[in-house]
Amino acid sequence: MATTDGEPGPCPACGAPILWAVDPNGRHVPIDLEPSPGGTLSLSQTWEGKPRVTKPSSKLAFGRSNLHTPHRVTCSNLAKLKGFL
Ligand SMILES: [Zn+2]
Repeated sequence: MATTDGEPGPCPACGAPILWAVDPNGRHVPIDLEPSPGGTLSLSQTWEGKPRVTKPSSKLAFGRSNLHTPHRVTCSNLAKLKGFL
């Protein structure tokens, strides 16, 4: 299955709203669309305007409320999701 960078959509495994982003290693990772209090990933954009995630240090992340959680943490059908990663 092809993934479309930057387009929010349902998780292919559980249907939750997610966004595919690129991590610092160039891999495509699904993240929860909405930020959450326990989030660990900072969402930004590449120079191409595609979503990119970075993991700020705990010092930089402190007090921020706009961090996203990797969807593999919250997916209710992780076994199936792994087939898409
Ligand atoms: Zn899911």
